[in-house]
Amino acid sequence: MPELPEVEVTRRGLALQLAGRVISGVAVREPRLRWPISADVRRLAGRTVKAVRRRGKYLLVDCGDGHLILHLGMSGSLRVLPAGTPAGKHDHFDLVLGDRLLRLRDPRRFGAVLWAPGDAMQHRLLAHLGVEPLSRALDPQRLRALARGRRTAIKLFLMDARLIVGVGNIYASESLFGAGIDPRMPARRLSLEKSRKLSAAIKHTLRKAIRAGGSTLRDFVGAEGRPGYFQQRHWVYDRAGQPCRRCGAAIRRIVQGQRSTFFCARCQKK
Ligand SMILES: [Zn+2]
Repeated sequence: MPELPEVEVTRRGLALQLAGRVISGVAVREPRLRWPISADVRRLAGRTVKAVRRRGKYLLVDCGDGHLILHLGMSGSLRVLPAGTPAGKHDHFDLVLGDRLLRLRDPRRFGAVLWAPGDAMQHRLLAHLGVEPLSRALDPQRLRALARGRRTAIKLFLMDARLIVGVGNIYASESLFGAGIDPRMPARRLSLEKSRKLSAAIKHTLRKAIRAGGSTLRDFVGAEGRPGYFQQRHWVYDRAGQPCRRCGAAIRRIVQGQRSTFFCARCQKK
């Protein structure tokens, strides 16, 4: 499933390719995505792409009087291709912009293509999303305030999109290692000192992944597959039984909320 860094790398690629271009056509080959592609999406021709924004893992193509909301779901990918490129089996949606097109490929069809007139932030999918982890709004005070009184494990707290949006499973494990915090610690025990370390670790972990993905940005046009940060070195994620890169102790794997958590019991304290 695409995580926030991949979506942000995609956003940057799309912004470079699409901003300022006029939408000349729309092709809907399969409207049955997570939600049906509505008729108003087919009437976007004539609008100019002002910018490409992001909220959580939603991409927002700003068309001036509204936003085209795109979500990659479980298996979606977006590519910018020359107009007229033949569509494959899972290429369900094209936004045509003169001599190029933006194409959504989504084999499992959990992605979304929706039109939000007016203020997209008020759309039902976006209105209740938590704070953006890379924004200034997520600082140590805010993080601690969000955690206050919560008995849930800090790992699950970090992954709750109603509180903080876009810290997925990989980045939650990696950030907690960076901050030296045991993933099982109750969120309410987050001190201001630990909150400083954790907010910095979240931002560092996400930015590092974006940088690694961004280095493949020039291959964005027509590139198959995913940005290169999937090859990045993890501290703990998916390393059960292997030695901690900091202390040498064996990395442990536990299950929290039906997802794997990886951590070093020596480096990460309750
Ligand atoms: Zn360790």
